[in-house]
Amino acid sequence: MTYIVATHNAHKLKELSRILLPLGIQAITDREYGCVLPEVEETGTTFEENAYLKAASACKETGLPAIADDSGLCVDALDGAPGVYSARFAGEGASDEEKIEKLLRELRGLPRDHRTARFVSCICCVFPNGETLTVRGTCEGLIADAPHGNGGFGYDPVFLVGEKTFAELTPAEKDAVSHRGRALRAFSERLQEYLKSHE
Ligand code: IMP
Repeated sequence: MTYIVATHNAHKLKELSRILLPLGIQAITDREYGCVLPEVEETGTTFEENAYLKAASACKETGLPAIADDSGLCVDALDGAPGVYSARFAGEGASDEEKIEKLLRELRGLPRDHRTARFVSCICCVFPNGETLTVRGTCEGLIADAPHGNGGFGYDPVFLVGEKTFAELTPAEKDAVSHRGRALRAFSERLQEYLKSHE
């Protein structure tokens, strides 16, 4: 079965595809399918709701089962912010550098043990019959004092897991521990069970 991946974020798409492929899930983009999916307004207040909104819209548009990720960074000292608003934390259209700058400014002077945070990824798959599968993956870490590393995207240069930021890991190292890697591996297991129960 072919699945459509509902995202216009090129970085996410790259991660989703490289993790899904070895799990035996053939995921294609809207362009590969021959259409352009409309932007979906992320009006939900949870990662689960927003992932569902994106997957449901893509499934409705294409008639294919659709997979969407909604993700973000939850910082304890900011009461869980930016959370579902991670993409818009420094305003609509702000660059990753601007978002990181704002985050570091808000945490300035906070000691290491008060800089705890987690990345969350919620994956939702909506099937044409209306059924859904939803999973969540998290990765615990700390917000660094300054950006380090050139890999990854978004907040990766300031998200420390052990002594390295996500941006200092190879793609395979990031996938092994990341919120998205964990969510997609859980999704793969749930999908196998779902497909077996629908044989
Ligand atoms: P959304 O899921 O489209 O609402 O966007 C989530 C936002 O969270 C992204 O634009 C990034 O800023 C951030 N984010 C999500 N996952 C990651 C990640 O793996 N690394 C760094 N930033 C991420």
